[in-house]
Order: sequence, then C-alpha cells, then structure tokens
Amino acid sequence: MSQEIFGIHHVTAIASDPQQNIDFYTHVLGLRLVKLTVNFDDPGTYHFYYGDEVGQPGTILTFFPWRGARRGRPGNGQASVTSFSIPEGAVGYWQERLGRLGIFVGEPSRRFDEEALVFLDPDGMQLELVAEAGVESRRPWAGGPVPPEAAIRGFHSVTLWEENLEHTAALLTGVLGFRLVQSAGSRSRFEAASSEPGSILDIIHRPDQGPGWGGAGTVHHVAWRTADDQTQQAWRQEIASLGFHVSPVMDRQYFHSIYFREPGGVLFEIATDPPGFTWDEAPDRLGTGLKLPSWLETQRVQIEQILPDLSLPEVITP
Ligand code: ZN
Repeated sequence: MSQEIFGIHHVTAIASDPQQNIDFYTHVLGLRLVKLTVNFDDPGTYHFYYGDEVGQPGTILTFFPWRGARRGRPGNGQASVTSFSIPEGAVGYWQERLGRLGIFVGEPSRRFDEEALVFLDPDGMQLELVAEAGVESRRPWAGGPVPPEAAIRGFHSVTLWEENLEHTAALLTGVLGFRLVQSAGSRSRFEAASSEPGSILDIIHRPDQGPGWGGAGTVHHVAWRTADDQTQQAWRQEIASLGFHVSPVMDRQYFHSIYFREPGGVLFEIATDPPGFTWDEAPDRLGTGLKLPSWLETQRVQIEQILPDLSLPEVITP
C-alpha cells in the first residue's frame, strides 16, 4: 500500500426540488451554502455545495436537484446513510429542534459507543446526527441558525449497504488504507488514517436483500480525499492495475476527480483537497452568486434562463 485515504472529501446526492433542498440544509441543518453552480455534465441543473465556513474537505454535502426527479430506493450497492458529527452535549438540542421544525425523529439510537439521531430529508434521504467525542474543537459554520455550540462539525461517516462484505472490505483495508476497527451484528466499522471529519465508513452486510436504485433521496457517489494531483495519479494507476475501470481525471473546478465503482456497486470518487471553494469567491461571499466554469460562461444567459429562481439563505454575520 503506497498511500492512504484521509476520509470523506464530499458526498453527492440527488434531490427533487432545489428550493426545498436549500431550505432544509441551510435553515434546518444549519450548513452553509458554499457554492452555487451547475452540474457540469447537465448545465440546466443546479449543483449545490453545502459545508462548513469554507467548505473544507470532510464537511461537503452536494446535491443535483433535478426538478421532479422520482424517488430512488435505498438498498444494497448504495451509500444508504449519511451521518454528520455533532458535539456530545447537543443531542437534546437537535431532538427538540428537528421535532419543532416538523422532522420526525425518534429517540437516539446507540451504536458502538455513540448516540445517533436518525431522520430523513424531504426526499427521504437517510441522515444521522452522531454525537462524537472531541468534535467541539472543530470550527463550525457560525453564520447559520444553529448556535455554534450545537452546530454540525462535518461528516461522521457514510454507511454502505452491501450484499457481500468481503470484497468491499478487501478494497478498503488492502488498498485504500482503512482499518477494520469494530463490528457488531451486521455492522462493520472501518476507519481511515486520520482523525479529521468523515474518517469513518460503516458497512451493513445485508445478504439476500435487494439492490437499491438511484433517484431523489439517494446518494449518487462518495468522494474520498487525496492530497494533490500527483497522489491522485498514483491512485489512478494503482486502482486501474487491480482491474477496476477508473475514469480519466475530471476538472470539477473546486477539486479534481477520478471515479470507479467499488466491488459492491457504490460509485467512489477520489478528489483532491485543492484548490477548494475560495479561489473564485471571497470567503464572506461564498454561495451568493451563480458560478460557472469558463467553458460554460459564454452560455450564462441561456443557462440562467433555464435554471429555476431561488431564494438564497440569509447569512447571519457571525
Ligand atoms: Zn463528486
């Protein structure tokens, strides 16, 4: 093994209503909209990026909001659950907040030694807030409606649902540098070689259960962090040499990406930490205007005509 993955870079999912999606993730969950752009492969659709103050790797949840998209179904071969970290003392706050805002949330579930609040986004996407020791020291986005002491501190983990555990586990531990740290019942926990946000991946082993299908409320792919273009090239060669079909490097403007499917069918991406979200917008202006890559800038007028109008979140000056 020549190198190691640091943890989640971003998670990208599908939504059915752009405004509803913005309202939920900024107003209810208190994330920052750090970039408003389009799907580069389908520029008539928005691409929203939410994260902490500057959208650091490990905090970024992104959506393709395809208007009227049909709901998908969670199942095997998917990243079925996306989990955020919250401070240990914030579980009661969130239980009350979600309930008050009309989100169904039950009593906290316990897994390994952590408490988790389990709920759905407006498209039925499975989310969790996990109380994680020590995350208070991570800087939250303080310009949203959630008090900083309770605010989300980036990702805790993603949970894959898999028909077969062995093949995915072999890729994680034998190639990507994860360690198997705990298992109980059908859940196995893997940890990347860092203590930064999003260093955990859980697998729920669900033999003989059906595959999921993509659509609104499902995760499209999970991106893992790598340091730079050079390490990404090394990953590309190593993963291709194992027989996986790996995409060419794609310029996503805020990071560079390669994609491949892990053995259970979940689409994985490896994304570079740089350049990040502040190269084309000042940190205090992030997410306040539609950004287009240079190759789409000449079509801005037509693109803006197609995109639905949006009411953007109000930023409370921290
Ligand atoms: Zn991605």
